[in-house]
Amino acid sequence: MDSHTICDNIQKFIGNPPGVDIGISDLSSLPSETRLGFTSAITVVVRLISGIIGEISDQPTISYFAHYRAVNRYIDDLTLKIGFFMESKGFKAHPIPASQSDPKAYYAGVFSHKTAANLSGMGWIGKNALFIHNQWGSAVRLGTVLIDYDIESPKKIIPSRCGTCTLCKDICPAQAIEGVNWTEDKKRKDLFDAHACSEYMKNHFQHIGRGSVCGLCIAVCPYTQCRQITSDKKEKVNI
Ligand code: SF4
Ligand code: SF4
Repeated sequence: MDSHTICDNIQKFIGNPPGVDIGISDLSSLPSETRLGFTSAITVVVRLISGIIGEISDQPTISYFAHYRAVNRYIDDLTLKIGFFMESKGFKAHPIPASQSDPKAYYAGVFSHKTAANLSGMGWIGKNALFIHNQWGSAVRLGTVLIDYDIESPKKIIPSRCGTCTLCKDICPAQAIEGVNWTEDKKRKDLFDAHACSEYMKNHFQHIGRGSVCGLCIAVCPYTQCRQITSDKKEKVNI
């Protein structure tokens, strides 16, 4: 099976739901311990809902927190289903939880969803250190199923398309975004201070989402298609 056939089969298996995109990537360029010994990854991208992202203006909302958790549960259901599907086809599979931030590991998880999504060619990494989907922009959440399948696909890394835009840096109340363009040699900490983001949220918005989710740097991004794009923002990134 080639990678397109696998993605099509998975989409059919999960019922072709709207707002879900499936990709596959070859992880063999990463150290074995980073990819838990698996050779490929299936990425699940789920779009966030426009009405909820559209109501975020200058602070997090209770609706966004509830939506964030609902989408994480949805992704975990999808990756579990996909894991069983891949096992039924004879592959070993390892679904990675949608939300897995560990403060002791500088807010990273056991495997970076963004790394696999980026290698799949479905999008790129913004100055906000988020995955920006080719169609839906920053307003997405990610899931991953690691599989022991050799797809031998060339890297499909898409360079940053942020250009001179600094909207996410400017709006960030924690001053956690450095405002630098992502390149392959950059680590997340070069773009974004996860500790500053987390501490600001805990100190100011404990009453909303236990101070764990914000959404401003998602909502403001001109590539976020579910939000009204003003001509001013379009000009900033030449879209
Ligand atoms: S989630 Fe909020 S506080 Fe954290 S980086 Fe984005 S805008 Fe800043
Ligand atoms: S808001 Fe602008 S700088 Fe930030 S990720 Fe989006 S396009 Fe890039």
